[in-house]
Amino acid sequence: MATIDNHQIIVSKIAIIGAGVSGIAATKQLSHHNPLVFEASDSIGGVWRHCCYNSTKLQSHRRDYEFSDFPWPRRDNSDFPTHMEILEYLHSYAEHFDVIKNIRFNSKVVEIRHVGDHDGSSNFGGLPSDHGTPLPGYPLWQLAVKTNHSDIIQWYGFEFVVVCTGKYGDIPEIPDFACNRGPEVFNGRVLHTLDYCKLDQHSATKLLKGKKVVVIGFKKSAIDLAMECAKANQGQLNEIKYSIIMNKLVVEGAEGQACTMVRSGVSKFMESYLLWKLPLEKYGLKPEHPFEEDYASCQMAIVPENFFSEADKGKIVFKRASNWSFWSGGIEFDDNSKLEADVVVLATGFDGKKKLKNILPHPFNSLLDYPSGVIPLYRGTIHPLIPNMAFVGYIESVSNLATSEIRSMWLSALLDNKFELPGVEKMLSHTVKEMEVMKKSTRFYKRHCISTYSINHSDELCEDIGWSSWRKKNWITEAFSPYSSEDYRKED
Ligand SMILES: Cc1cc2nc3c(=O)[nH]c(=O)nc-3n(C[C@H](O)[C@H](O)[C@H](O)COP(=O)(O)OP(=O)(O)OC[C@H]3O[C@@H](n4cnc5c(N)ncnc54)[C@H](O)[C@@H]3O)c2cc1C
Repeated sequence: MATIDNHQIIVSKIAIIGAGVSGIAATKQLSHHNPLVFEASDSIGGVWRHCCYNSTKLQSHRRDYEFSDFPWPRRDNSDFPTHMEILEYLHSYAEHFDVIKNIRFNSKVVEIRHVGDHDGSSNFGGLPSDHGTPLPGYPLWQLAVKTNHSDIIQWYGFEFVVVCTGKYGDIPEIPDFACNRGPEVFNGRVLHTLDYCKLDQHSATKLLKGKKVVVIGFKKSAIDLAMECAKANQGQLNEIKYSIIMNKLVVEGAEGQACTMVRSGVSKFMESYLLWKLPLEKYGLKPEHPFEEDYASCQMAIVPENFFSEADKGKIVFKRASNWSFWSGGIEFDDNSKLEADVVVLATGFDGKKKLKNILPHPFNSLLDYPSGVIPLYRGTIHPLIPNMAFVGYIESVSNLATSEIRSMWLSALLDNKFELPGVEKMLSHTVKEMEVMKKSTRFYKRHCISTYSINHSDELCEDIGWSSWRKKNWITEAFSPYSSEDYRKED
C-alpha cells in the first residue's frame, strides 16, 4: 500500500525516540520540556517486552537496576527479577511520574532529516564546529513518523532529538554464509532468538520438544535458550557453538601500573573462584582471555539455575567452533564433522548500529563510528559531530538502567543551560582518549561498555552538572560501601 506524506509539520521542542528503559528515563528527566516520545511498539519496556524468553531474568541485582528515586518493591530480595517483574516495575515508574502521557505508541520514526538554520539556509551536509545552543528556538531536525494504524507519514520538527532506540532487538545480526552453505540448504527450521521471543510458552515448548536443537552463540541469550531446550526436551542434544576467538595481545595500559596490577590481581582472584565454582574446564568453556576482559566488555552472563546439572545429564552439550555452515541435515563444522538438527536457533545478537544508520540522514549516518571505529559519544551521550541530538542507552555498563538515568539527568542539565559542551575538537579527542583506555582494558572494546569505569563516568557527569562526585554521607561509607543508583538521586 502506498505511503502518503503529510506535508504539514508539527513543531515541538524535544523528541525522544523509543520508550524502553532509556526512553522513559529521558522522558522523566526532561518532563519540564514536555517532550514528545515516539515508540514503535504498543508499550513501554523495550527489550523487556520484546526480546525475552519466558525464563529471562535480570542479571543485575535489583538494587543496581533501580531508578534513583523509585525503589523496587521488596528491594532487598536477593533473587533476580523475571522480565515480567521488570516490566511491572517500569510500568509503575512510568505511571508514578506520569510519563505515559508524553508517549505516542505504535509510532515508528522512519526517517530523520537535518534542516537548515533559522535563516532558511540548509546546513545539510555541513558539520558543526560547535554545538551552539541546545534549544535554539527553531527546529533543526524533522522526523517522519509512521503509525501502525495508517499509511500516512506525519512530519514533525524539533529543536533537539534524544535517540533511545536501544542496542538490542529489532534488527537481528545474521551470519554470512557461502553459496549453498546457508539456511536455504537446511531441511529443518532456522530462526533467530528475536523470532523465538515472539513465541508464547506453548508454541516455544512445541518448537523444542522432541527435537534436536542447535543453539548458535555463547552469550546470555544462548545459555538461557539451551536451558529452555533442556527443560522442554528429554535426552536431546543442544549444542552451544562459537569459540571465543583469541585476538592479538592487548597493549599495556597508559593507566598507572599500580592500578593495572590491582585490577589484574582482583581479576585473577575472581577467575580462580569461578573456575573453582563452575565446571568450566570440564566442559571446555574456560575462556582463553582473562576474566577482566569479559567484565570490561559487559560479556558476563549469569548461568541459569541447574544449568550445569542439565549438562551433567547430557541434555546440554557444548562445542567450540569458529566456522560452521548448514547442510541439509543440520550443521557442519570446519573439521568436516556434522551435527544433525531439526531446529537451529541463531543466538547471534543484534545490530543496534544499523538501527541508527537506517534512520539518520547522510552524512550523520556515516559518522556514527568515526573516528574510533565505535560510536564516539561524549559523556556517553553526545556525538561530537551530530548537533542537537543525544543518544541514551548505547554505551553499556553493569547497570544500563542506572546509567541511562544519570545520563538523562546530565542531558536535562545541558538543555537547561546549567553547563556548556566543550568544542567539537575537544569532545572528539576526549572520546578518542577514552577509546584508547578501553582498548587497553579489553580486546572486546568494540562492544562499547564502561563497566570498569562506571563510577568514574558518573563522577564526570556529576561534576558537569555541578554536583559533588563524592556522593556518600561520610568518608567511611565513601571508602567502604558500594555505590548504587540511590547515591545519584537528583539534587534540588
Ligand atoms: C535478554 C536481555 C537481558 C538483559 N539483561 C540486562 C541486565 O541484567 N542488566 C542490564 O543492565 N542490562 C541488561 N540488558 C540490556 C538492556 O538492553 C538494557 O538494560 C535496557 O533495557 C535497554 O533499554 P533501552 O531503552 O536503551 O533500549 P530498548 O529496551 O531496546 O528500547 C528501545 C525502544 O525503542 C523503540 N524503537 C526502536 N526503534 C524505533 C523507531 N525507529 N521509532 C520509534 N521507536 C523505536 C523500540 O520499540 C523499543 O521500545 C539486557 C538485554 C537483553 C536483551
